[in-house]
Amino acid sequence: MYIVQIAPECAPVAKVGGLADVIFGLSRELEIRGNEVHIILPKYDCMRYDQIWGLQVSMRDLWVPWYNSAIHCTVWFGFVQGRKCFFIEPHSPENFFNRGHFYGFQDDVSRFAFFSKAALEFMLKDNRRPDIIHCHDWQTGLVPVLLFEQYAHAGMGGSRACYTIHNFKHQGLTGEYALWATGLTNIAHYFNYDRLRDNFNHTAVNLMKGGVVYSNFVTTVSPTHSHEARFTDQSSGLGPVLNTHQGKFGGVLNGIDYDIWNPEIDPHIPERYGIETLDSKYVNKEALRDRLWLKKDYKPIIAYVGRLDSQKGVNLISHAIFYALRNNAQFVLLGSSPDPHINQHFWNLKRHLNDSPDCHLELGFDEELSHLIYAGSDMIIMPSLFEPCGLTQMIALKYGTVPIVREVGGLKDTVFDKDYSHKPWEERNGYVFQGADNAGVESAMHRAIALWYTYPDDFRQLVTHGMSCDYSWCRPGQDYLNIYEHIRCK
Ligand code: ADP
Repeated sequence: MYIVQIAPECAPVAKVGGLADVIFGLSRELEIRGNEVHIILPKYDCMRYDQIWGLQVSMRDLWVPWYNSAIHCTVWFGFVQGRKCFFIEPHSPENFFNRGHFYGFQDDVSRFAFFSKAALEFMLKDNRRPDIIHCHDWQTGLVPVLLFEQYAHAGMGGSRACYTIHNFKHQGLTGEYALWATGLTNIAHYFNYDRLRDNFNHTAVNLMKGGVVYSNFVTTVSPTHSHEARFTDQSSGLGPVLNTHQGKFGGVLNGIDYDIWNPEIDPHIPERYGIETLDSKYVNKEALRDRLWLKKDYKPIIAYVGRLDSQKGVNLISHAIFYALRNNAQFVLLGSSPDPHINQHFWNLKRHLNDSPDCHLELGFDEELSHLIYAGSDMIIMPSLFEPCGLTQMIALKYGTVPIVREVGGLKDTVFDKDYSHKPWEERNGYVFQGADNAGVESAMHRAIALWYTYPDDFRQLVTHGMSCDYSWCRPGQDYLNIYEHIRCK
């Protein structure tokens, strides 16, 4: 099959969160299974260009229709750790992708509406006719709309669209202008509750809703979250639309790429280890302490790695820091936030805890350091308010770092409580709590810290259970291929 992934992120060149890992890992798995896979991305100025090999112009002059005119683009091609990627570079006064950051601009919707249009225009003009176009999140929600309403009639009628929602919180709500800009000028047709009109904000066009309505298949990133999205308030209002389209909606758990996230071969950690050589993990623990100036003491290290977003339960993360420090544990945090209030909150905390020998807060994005934290910590905490899938806990499991998580979304599908799970003992791999409150966090942290101190052999067994889990792309890769096969044009 010829599959094109259209996405705003791809690890490691353009990574903000888990979406980037998914694009890379899924593409790799699909290739291993004998498919031709291309990835189309914006050409951001802030990408990791050191991770792109053989960057060269693929199409010098691509003119992308935009409002009543057209924007001149150049399309580049390069390999990202073996993946074949095209990068779209518009030459327009708006400077869509040369802003020093991936997101966070007032015209984000315009930027990605343009990208969606440009990706299709590129495939049309370059005679690329994928069997499957797989697009992701609100940024590419217009792709299935444009494919069906415009490009199918222009020669791309054989391509089918799969749409994956990684996060319902951001849906790309915008004004009618996005329709005008991309040539969907029959406004009465598109700005309709059956198509792109938002169900709650009656004056808004909803790009994610467009993606759902027009795709041949829609997924979200774990079975539990697909249920939550339809039947609870976790889809930010998209539940009724998903229920209307339930016949083409399902949950596929993300995988992680064990070529990158694997302590046995990880080049970013000082000492490699596996289940048989678990003691070497503690060399990394010492290295982590050296790197972050933590005291060398007989204490567990509890970590948080991730975006500092309200979704992640920032108050509960803050609470976990103080609870750990009060209960003979050390705490390491690596995270960043585009939200100035949240950012300020953690900078204040960092200053407040500056002299603590048991705590380090690293505020920023640092891929290499994240590997050392996964390897060097004993436990990782994720008190998310909602969590469509979560990669952090799956990575932690592979590194023998016991996850302490809230029972929500993909966390519920991947972490099984040591004391209360119905699974057999050898499948229990962490700690799970229910309430999104301090008491919930404390109950699970208390049990984890107590086991570490009191029954180290049991703790070690829990560690090895986690390391034995298989959350690779093997199964989800097959799940996606089954979906592609189901919808492809035969
Ligand atoms: P989300 O997709 O909501 O951001 P996930 O748990 O699915 O959360 O994926 C997070 C990914 O991003 C993981 O690979 C994690 O290691 C990485 N990550 C998040 N924040 C940082 C950071 N500040 N520095 C390094 N890596 C980070």
